[in-house]
Amino acid sequence: MKKIFCLMFISILVAFAKPTVYILATGGTIAGGADNELSGAYKSGAIGVDKLIAAVPKINEIANIKGEQISNIGSHHMNNDVWLKLAKRVNEILNDENADGVIITHGTDSIEESAYFLNLVIKSNKPVVFVGAMRAATSISADGPLNIYNAVSVATNKKSFGKGVLLVMNDEIHKAREVTKSNTTNVATFTSPNSGKIGIVNYGKIEYFDDKLHTTNSEFSTEDFKELPKVDILYAHTTDNGDLVDFCVENGAKGIVIAGMGSGSLYPSVEKALVNAMKKGVVIVRSSRVASGSTDMGPGVNLYDEKYGFIAADTLNPQKARILLMLALTKTNEIEKIREIFRTY
Ligand code: ASP
Repeated sequence: MKKIFCLMFISILVAFAKPTVYILATGGTIAGGADNELSGAYKSGAIGVDKLIAAVPKINEIANIKGEQISNIGSHHMNNDVWLKLAKRVNEILNDENADGVIITHGTDSIEESAYFLNLVIKSNKPVVFVGAMRAATSISADGPLNIYNAVSVATNKKSFGKGVLLVMNDEIHKAREVTKSNTTNVATFTSPNSGKIGIVNYGKIEYFDDKLHTTNSEFSTEDFKELPKVDILYAHTTDNGDLVDFCVENGAKGIVIAGMGSGSLYPSVEKALVNAMKKGVVIVRSSRVASGSTDMGPGVNLYDEKYGFIAADTLNPQKARILLMLALTKTNEIEKIREIFRTY
């Protein structure tokens, strides 16, 4: 009995510790339904907010979720009346000190208009995040549930405060002022052609691009060192081998940046050679030969970093990761400190 009371007490404490996020549903493909999971001819706004929330039970682990239905229409039917109702309700919610953020589910056709309208009339620094989907809730590989999970992650992240109204879809974070729909059917439809996206979010892991330290806030100074340590870059490929890793180590490299495949993945022989290099005190940073994305997300983080102590270059390309690693090595050889440096600059 005592144990049950204890468990109840703990779960009440946990519920209070979690942020409270409202999901206001307006309709759209994200709430769309069809009889056939392969049909593009679905009805927008066929599913209610409770079902949308029930499809993503994991969001309850990161927030206290409260759902409300504002409308249930395709966003090509969006109008001023719904906007006014929505804006009024969002302001009311965010004025409540117990509310931490608002998510608005919306059709993608006019989501950019509603988001920009709210961006101009909401009076709060708390996160307001629009989210939609390109595939109906009943479709094969529906993109709505993961988009909602990512939207809740963004709305509950402290770094999302004060950024204005945001749109989260397809692992990307965009500002309402900049974002626009760019493709009729593709899940990668949203772009910000003038400014670009402001961040990325992958299974709830968030990275904003605008919070990296530099210049006056940089801890590095040319006063502190006479020369930069030797750091080499290697380029990964199939049927790769570890010879060049060994060569770098024999020739005095203090660090190696590997331009890995995909999210910084490695061919087995190179993985082995890099582990040996690390045992000899060489610091290993995983970047990617792929042009965009973070190596601090995706499988490499647990396949290599947690297992061996390699360091993800984050979104730095190999040539910039080399510069940061050289500077980091003028300060420290400690892996966790260098890992932190790669998340900071
Ligand atoms: N026509 C739909 C809507 O805007 C399209 C979508 O949601 O993707 O509601």
